[in-house]
Amino acid sequence: MRRPNIVLILTDDHAAHAISAYGSVVNRTPRIDEIAGLGARFDHCFATNALCSPSRASILTGTYSHVNGVTTLETPIDAGQPTFVSLLRESGYRTAIVGKWHMGEGPGHDPEGFDHWDVLIDQGEYVDPRFLSAGGLRTEPGYATDVITDLALRWADGLDGDDPWCLLICHKAPHRPWTPDAEHAGMYADPIPVPATFTDDLTGRSSSARRAAMRIAEHLTADDLKRDPPDGLSYEELALWKYQRYMEDYLAVVASVDDNVGRVVDWLRERGDIEDTLLMYCSDQGFFLGDHGWFDKRLMYEESLRMPLVLSYPRRVPAGQEHTGIVTNVDFARTLLEAAGVPAHPRMQGRSFLADLTGEPGPAPAEGMYYRYWEHDDVWHKAPAHYGYRTARYKIIYYYNDGLGLPGTGPATYPGEWELYDLETDPEELRNVYLDPAYLEVREELKVRLWRAQAELGDRPHPGQPVPEGV
Ligand code: CA
Repeated sequence: MRRPNIVLILTDDHAAHAISAYGSVVNRTPRIDEIAGLGARFDHCFATNALCSPSRASILTGTYSHVNGVTTLETPIDAGQPTFVSLLRESGYRTAIVGKWHMGEGPGHDPEGFDHWDVLIDQGEYVDPRFLSAGGLRTEPGYATDVITDLALRWADGLDGDDPWCLLICHKAPHRPWTPDAEHAGMYADPIPVPATFTDDLTGRSSSARRAAMRIAEHLTADDLKRDPPDGLSYEELALWKYQRYMEDYLAVVASVDDNVGRVVDWLRERGDIEDTLLMYCSDQGFFLGDHGWFDKRLMYEESLRMPLVLSYPRRVPAGQEHTGIVTNVDFARTLLEAAGVPAHPRMQGRSFLADLTGEPGPAPAEGMYYRYWEHDDVWHKAPAHYGYRTARYKIIYYYNDGLGLPGTGPATYPGEWELYDLETDPEELRNVYLDPAYLEVREELKVRLWRAQAELGDRPHPGQPVPEGV
């Protein structure tokens, strides 16, 4: 069988609930939906650390943050680690990354394992972005999402011969500061539906969650919204005004992403390559779109934890699938390598989900997923460090709260705190049932599963966490 070309379109902070294939009530994304229709939509794909740089490192290396070392935004990657791309290259693939890298710059941190790399600096710019490549630094005129797509397709168009290739198209969009291009600015002028949990006051949740400085009403700035709010608004009115402004821009930026995804799909079709290309669209993690009154990500709640993932590979993957099992960003490397017929590196973690899609025999489904957010009380978002475990039905979270993982952050310490959610009866995570006697057994069992997951994956529980009974 012909080895597939691989195209991974990776965006930044695109929530699944802003994709119509996932039932969005705020926008339409026909071209992303098209990939789901050609192949599969994943309903339970999760980031193991819902933050830009760590998720990117997990995708590339097929390992958790504590293994690849990219635990926070302040911990650059050791780019010499084996990645699915470096292994593909060693097996004869031509490889490239264009767009956002955001895992550090300079020797040892610039991309390795790519024949061609052309990446944004740090978070990158929306307009006239700067690119760093082996040839040095330059500015490219235009809008980042268009420019990144142009440069990526140009690289692949320039290849000769029949050897397969792997192309990572990594957008800045729709990351803060949500700057739309002229074509899409203003397309969401009508009122945008407000999520059901918009006015959630976080009653019953941990003080750790309440500490996060991610409230739309309080923490979106005039820079974010590109104008000052009208005078004299109440707190509730200000929250709604900011939500509308925020979402107008966010969704306009997403519309440009969708157009550019369509350009890639059309280009693959025109080349006659769509059948034999494994095409993935995903985001590095989810995002709060007014859910619980928040923007941003980091926390282990569903809107942040969930990664949108759609995938097509018509030669081997039957169309129109809805994949409901648990998969994570750590699984991508093994999956892509299996599709290419290349053995994974022994240090790679996770499980290949290719067989879930092809119907061939494969590994057992995952029983749950382990999550750890390492940053602690960073200057801007004040989101607390925590780890947790999610099964199909339940989620347990432990906020250990002492700054481990982000050197130099504040001296403030807080006691550890637990949360527990029953996603079957409470999918919006409004009721923390950790202290509910009806969940005592579930709670203790999940603590054991969390403890065991950490041991199996080579991470360690926080020293402040009591050893669960039954371990
Ligand atoms: Ca991100």
